[in-house]
Amino acid sequence: MKTILLVEDEPKIVQIARDYLEHAGFNILTASDGKSALAIWRAAKPDLLVLDLGLPNVDGLDVTRMVRKESNTPIIMLTARSEESDKLVGLELGADDYMVKPFSPKELVARVRAVLRRMENATQGSEIVRAGNVLLDTPRMRVTIDGRVVDVTPTEFQLLLALARQPGRIFTRAQLLDAVRGVAFESYERAIDAHIKNLRRKIEPDPREPRYVLTVYGMGYKFSDEQ
Ligand code: CA
Repeated sequence: MKTILLVEDEPKIVQIARDYLEHAGFNILTASDGKSALAIWRAAKPDLLVLDLGLPNVDGLDVTRMVRKESNTPIIMLTARSEESDKLVGLELGADDYMVKPFSPKELVARVRAVLRRMENATQGSEIVRAGNVLLDTPRMRVTIDGRVVDVTPTEFQLLLALARQPGRIFTRAQLLDAVRGVAFESYERAIDAHIKNLRRKIEPDPREPRYVLTVYGMGYKFSDEQ
């Protein structure tokens, strides 16, 4: 049984999200502030975090930052409409998905399943993809560039995998969203830009002059076929 840590300070949301997720077969832990969220995350090592951004003491963005320093545990952010810019910051910090409140608890269950499936697909496949000096080890979800191991999140891995499988092919942002999400939902193409920016910071020798993941203006992105 997969364990989900639900971090939210509004009891009503905790109650409904917990009900739906438990009904869907997940084991649920809860925290109502950032400090206890981090303590529980360290002690219980949940499979996924559902994380509200606006929290007492340590806020959701800081929790994301600290979790990402130590692990790739998938994170789904919960944001208020007024936190539009925080959502982008969260994605840049490495969150995997987000939902804007008020959200449908059924949709939350679908997103949780999609993110976990993505994680499993990324870790259980047996595929090794090589594109130039970039090596993607699917079973281990590990990226190696010139022999150097680069830590990426599950979402970044899936994104890079989709691109590197077909060097030279231009992917639109919508196609990339498709590649990284298990379920169809409101497409948010700037999210792809945020993930690409992160990925470049990790894999590119000079993120301002990308060598691997190239921007195709007016179209989208492609993995360089000139390796
Ligand atoms: Ca809140």
